[in-house]
Amino acid sequence: MPYLVAPEALEELLPDQPRYRVEQLRQWLYRHPVLTTAEMTNLPKSLRAELAGRLWPMQVEAQQTGDGGRTVKWLFRAPDGAAVEAVLMGYPRRTTLCISSQAGCAMRCTFCATGQFGFERHLAPGEIFAQVAYANAHLRAHPMPDSPARVGNVVFMGMGEPLANYDSVREAIRRMIEVAGMSGRSITVSTVGITPGIDRLAAEPWPVTLALSLHAADDHLREQLVPQNRRYPIDDLLAAAQRFQRGHGRRVTLEWTLMADVNDSADQARSLAAIALELGAHVNVIPMNPTPLAPQQRPSPERTRRFVDEVNRHGATCTLRDTRGTEIDAACGQLRVRAAT
Ligand code: SF4
Repeated sequence: MPYLVAPEALEELLPDQPRYRVEQLRQWLYRHPVLTTAEMTNLPKSLRAELAGRLWPMQVEAQQTGDGGRTVKWLFRAPDGAAVEAVLMGYPRRTTLCISSQAGCAMRCTFCATGQFGFERHLAPGEIFAQVAYANAHLRAHPMPDSPARVGNVVFMGMGEPLANYDSVREAIRRMIEVAGMSGRSITVSTVGITPGIDRLAAEPWPVTLALSLHAADDHLREQLVPQNRRYPIDDLLAAAQRFQRGHGRRVTLEWTLMADVNDSADQARSLAAIALELGAHVNVIPMNPTPLAPQQRPSPERTRRFVDEVNRHGATCTLRDTRGTEIDAACGQLRVRAAT
């Protein structure tokens, strides 16, 4: 039985139960998630016992907290041994959950710890949604001060390239929106640029947010950082982003992991600003997080600020992303390092 049975398949799980029991279980799994059948208080005890062990095959193997309890990282383990991570970040009046779409990743971006391990397998829709359900259950049990007790934003920026696992990611997003009641706008799909996947996403009925992990403003440099660029070069990527914007009317975000002496020059800042202006995109700069597996380094705070200012000076809107969870290896690019060592 896969984790978090599809909402439409719950009737098959409870063939002899009345419809309202199916609806009660749907609520416990998708709307107000709990993590044990013992907490499903409106189900008869015999049914809770029958369902125990049949709903959550992914186990939480480890939990770490950082940033004074406002960042929580989980390592989930599936029965076949596949390990994935999710990171919950609480802010005043909002909560963001960074989730994984694959165990490992085949994209092999040279600055990313996950990419250095290679690809293990795709996650099933239930395994992707499970990360959201778990975080919601955690927030109910352990609310963070000033933050909502529910996941407000989901970003596909954990392990994996979401558009390389399109069908599962699509189904997980559908469950988040249509069953769990999230807004499409609060779900961000971040991609290194699988352009056919961007076009498929543009044709979906719900307007999710698209983030392009650009990291370099010319193909030569980008190929060194994101090998996938050889297949889908920058021009193709930007054309797909424009089609996405036209389809959904949603502004695209450009993600830029800033690496010392690699992509933090004034030239790159100017070229990035030109791309952002042409696309009408917002730029997010993320200082690279240190990982023992990647040769690139994080630039100094002064150099980082200068880069952001340079992009803004050329007319684009550029912000510096708050990096969370560095102390627990939970920040972007670090997932899996500690799990594997
Ligand atoms: S940055 Fe994203 S796409 Fe690139 S290797 Fe890491 S997880 Fe994969």
